[in-house]
Amino acid sequence: MEHKLRFDGRTVIVTGAGGGLGRAYALAFAVRGANVVVNDLGGSRAGDGSSTAAADKVVDEIIRAGGKAVANYDSVDNGEKIVETAVKAFGRVDIVINNAGILRDKSFSRMTDQDWDLIQTVHVRGSYKVTKAAWNLFRKQKFGRVINTASAAGIYGNFGQANYSAAKLALVSFTETLAKEGVKDNIRANVIAPIAASRMTETIMPPDILASLKPDYVAPLVLYLCHESTEETGSLFEVGAGFIAKLRWERSKGALFKTDESFLPGSVIAKWPEITDFSQPQYPTSMTDTNFVSLIEQANALPSNP
Ligand code: NAD
Repeated sequence: MEHKLRFDGRTVIVTGAGGGLGRAYALAFAVRGANVVVNDLGGSRAGDGSSTAAADKVVDEIIRAGGKAVANYDSVDNGEKIVETAVKAFGRVDIVINNAGILRDKSFSRMTDQDWDLIQTVHVRGSYKVTKAAWNLFRKQKFGRVINTASAAGIYGNFGQANYSAAKLALVSFTETLAKEGVKDNIRANVIAPIAASRMTETIMPPDILASLKPDYVAPLVLYLCHESTEETGSLFEVGAGFIAKLRWERSKGALFKTDESFLPGSVIAKWPEITDFSQPQYPTSMTDTNFVSLIEQANALPSNP
């Protein structure tokens, strides 16, 4: 096995590292020389309860293999305590992997406020709190790497996951903004939509499929994106089962309308084929990629809408 991509002297926080994907990342970073903070609240898949056992087990595994790791048992909602653990044990933080997660799947009609709020708290506020606590350290040292964890459910929507999909897509735009703000300080942020066998997926996929979906097959991309050599930032990747692909926004050709009293719902119907025509796509990556001044000029020059 090659261990060329090294992380010696770097400190990585992996949230939710007591099992599943987080554990795979923690072990992979440790074997390449990183100091690892193994954070895990140790609760159930739905976010009930807590235990120190999950994080302790992974720390033991790392130390027995000759690596460096400490445990942290706080909820990601207390991100500053997790960063404190890293600074106290290793003197710095270089990489934050926001991975901790829970599920409260229910059809939208049955979903309670509690199901909604808890999912937003763990996924969105948790990723915010840990990143926020590390951010100024990153800026001062002119180095930082952030990985956020989205989901295909967040990108495409999924039955029974209105709470989870909303939270997961929020992490895509959170990442896009972090990437834009961090670039001048050598902070890179990327977001992944993984697929892997874990306690989250073991009830929804058959055993033969789960066998091909090891969390270890997600770790290589995560490590690459966190290395000091990577330039990639603000990107979204689907990853799992040996497949890695980058996603981006695609905008249709679009339609222009004269903005006068002739602009009516019927005008929209008349140009619906143009609005939905992806044969000449654009791939905007920032708000300024849309030149509204030029669009207004072009629209003003049009005859009234039919
Ligand atoms: P997992 O349940 O094995 O791991 C999640 C870990 O997070 C658990 O060990 C849990 O104790 C911990 N955790 C939960 N709430 C926490 C909190 N408040 N503070 C600290 N730790 C907490 O599941 P996994 O499949 O490894 O999931 C990891 C991440 O990947 C999650 O964000 C999940 O939503 C995402 N994801 C996974 C898949 C997949 O196919 N497994 C697909 C899409 C997204």
